Amino acid sequence: MSSDFSDLKNGLYVLLAVFLIGYVSRELASLISAGATFYYGFTGIRLLISKGEGHTASSKVRISTTASSATAPTPSSPTIADRIKSINAKGEFKCPSCGATVNPTETKCRFCGSVLANPEAENIPRPLMWADIEIGQTLQINHPQKGATTSAVDQRIYYGELWQERMTPNTPWTLTGNYFAGLHLKNGIYLLNWQSRYFLLDSHLPLTDQDIQRDLATPAREFASSNQTAKVLFEYKGTKWKMDDIGRFRIELADGESQKLIPGAVGRFIHASQAENVLVVEDFQSGGSGLDIARLGFKIELKDVKY
Ligand SMILES: [Zn+2]
Repeated sequence: MSSDFSDLKNGLYVLLAVFLIGYVSRELASLISAGATFYYGFTGIRLLISKGEGHTASSKVRISTTASSATAPTPSSPTIADRIKSINAKGEFKCPSCGATVNPTETKCRFCGSVLANPEAENIPRPLMWADIEIGQTLQINHPQKGATTSAVDQRIYYGELWQERMTPNTPWTLTGNYFAGLHLKNGIYLLNWQSRYFLLDSHLPLTDQDIQRDLATPAREFASSNQTAKVLFEYKGTKWKMDDIGRFRIELADGESQKLIPGAVGRFIHASQAENVLVVEDFQSGGSGLDIARLGFKIELKDVKY
């Protein structure tokens, strides 16, 4: 910053000198003036470029659902599931206290309760919330309509958030480093966290590509083209929804009963709401392993899930 100011001050001195010399010699003044314009002009451009870069890096993650970005390359780096698998391949991880076989990423032994710290699993990324919830664990849920309920986790999905620096077919999608958890319970509820949002989703319907094209593609595209700033309303299943967020993810981990998702599958999502009701759409890349689905439910808060 200080060098910017001294540059500016020097620039003013040069201008003042040019102005004074102008009275003495017209040619000398124009020569100095040209030199000053070149130097300070260049400095100014450099400042603009560096400020521009800073802004891009800190600005909101922009995600597009336009057709052009849909064909952009997606990450080929190992998923969380791949990394767990490679640790398991080296041999079973056992609890040092009771000797039971535990998952490498578990932080607490489910058999004896001791705290686990597996150095091999230390660098495996974890979701921001619910990273310590394991399959089989019982959760207490506060359902906005039905009140308190208790159920065990039977499926667990970790999503890796993707983003693209520019909305072009050649700009690769990369992992942002944010991971979010989805927890399916035995009673049919799907709990999902995304950034600061928490959803309790208790009904769902499968989607075909035609359904998505007919009902959801247009509002999603409209929202994307406004850089997610426009108020986009659309009708779906008799409700008028407001687009809240769209984006792209990679399935990082999928474990538990009747799990149909395969880690590495890439999809895009739509989050829309109407008062306390929410709509969450997952649209997997064609040819992938995921099943397109629309889930319906409610906005909840973190404190509505206890364990
Ligand atoms: Zn143990």
